[in-house]
Amino acid sequence: MSQSRFCLTNQRALTGFESCESGGLWNMLPRLIFHVSSATWLSKALASTSPALLTNSTWSRRTMSDEVQKAQAAKPVPGPTIFDKIIDKSIPADIIYEDEQCLAFRDINAQAPVHFLVIPKKRIGALSEAEDADEKLLGHLMLVAKKTAAQEKLEKGFRLVINNGPDGAQSVYHLHLHVLGGRQMGWPPG
Ligand code: AMP
Repeated sequence: MSQSRFCLTNQRALTGFESCESGGLWNMLPRLIFHVSSATWLSKALASTSPALLTNSTWSRRTMSDEVQKAQAAKPVPGPTIFDKIIDKSIPADIIYEDEQCLAFRDINAQAPVHFLVIPKKRIGALSEAEDADEKLLGHLMLVAKKTAAQEKLEKGFRLVINNGPDGAQSVYHLHLHVLGGRQMGWPPG
């Protein structure tokens, strides 16, 4: 499905690209490979020069299928996740806020000029595993998201996302709030 979406997106982006439905697919194959590799190369070149040069659609197209694939392969694990290691500081992260209940750090694979995660120190695998007793903690995470967004100067707005389970494209099974900003968001989300 992601391949056909990629093809349609490139149809719009690249002039002279024939419709996928017309003509023999085999005749188109060499040209198709050329277009796909050109688009990938261009995207990588832009990312390595300046993230500011990336358009809204480039941000999402560059990594969406990777993230969805990761999420489909991901499973809840009983042991510590990568986020537990960030909490106990056994692996580094760009931490921008910390208190006794939670931590906020920059996403390693940013989908916007500002993209950070707010996570509870308590291990809750996913929002669907949160209990009534977590009500105060969940509220606290939202307020920290708001305050840290202000600290990051997202005066024009931001988006809060919680991915839950495989269909929600969750890849790390430790509850986290994504906070994205610094560009105009689209709707509906993918
Ligand atoms: P989700 O797909 O909602 O589970 O989001 C997990 C997020 O964690 C993704 O956006 C990843 O880029 C991010 N991530 C994974 N490992 C790290 C890490 N070591 N440091 C910062 N962000 C990470």
